[in-house]
Amino acid sequence: MLIIFAVINGDMKDSYRHKGLRRQLVNQLIKKGITDDNVLNAIGSVPRHLFLDKAFEEQAYMDKALPISSDQTISQPYTVAFQSQLLDVGPKDKVLEIGTGSGYQAAVLTHLCRRVYSIERHESLHRDTAARLKRCGYESVRTLHGDGYKGAPRFAPFDRIIVTAGASEIPQDLLDQLVIGGILVIPSGHTDIKQMYKIIKIDADQYDKEIHGDFRFVPFVKGKA
Ligand code: SAH
Repeated sequence: MLIIFAVINGDMKDSYRHKGLRRQLVNQLIKKGITDDNVLNAIGSVPRHLFLDKAFEEQAYMDKALPISSDQTISQPYTVAFQSQLLDVGPKDKVLEIGTGSGYQAAVLTHLCRRVYSIERHESLHRDTAARLKRCGYESVRTLHGDGYKGAPRFAPFDRIIVTAGASEIPQDLLDQLVIGGILVIPSGHTDIKQMYKIIKIDADQYDKEIHGDFRFVPFVKGKA
């Protein structure tokens, strides 16, 4: 009885107000050019305020990046929507996310595909987020602690790989862990401003590259923290 009371009244609350704010956020994303209905529905479904520290709850449905623990950030909703849309995910896909962070992007992906694996280099962030995802009902996400530069060879190949930290190069290991026809979405570049790459693996060592605008990210760092 006590436990049920705590769940309804505690941190897990997703109120009508939150739902209303989410609808407004989705409308903003439509105005900013997001067109994929599945992505918009996913953003409309995931309670972003539950992925943030209480101190930032009021800002959860503003279209901005916010601080999380281990000196990292939860990506801006527009960026999450843009990357998810570029990833072109289908319901049967197995997806690897590099940079679990708060778990928000992973939660959004669960609405779009069959299986989500997500890897984080900070152990405490990995641990806290794994617990949060379970608490929030996203227990299907398989969270891993490790170096995303190496991908997740144990679970490869993947239909889609999404990197949510800013790279200075495109790791060959990630390309190797894609199926033929698979897609890697990765922000990459040599300055603080990264270009959003969509790389389509058309054959074992043949790729199509598209560049989709400039974004800012926390850095993609080699090795575990
Ligand atoms: N997708 C996250 C965004 C978090 S910011 C969200 O929705 O909240 C990017 C994350 O990438 C950070 O948590 C950072 O620690 C992690 N990261 C950076 N380099 C990494 C690496 N080599 N392997 C795994 N995670 C990495």
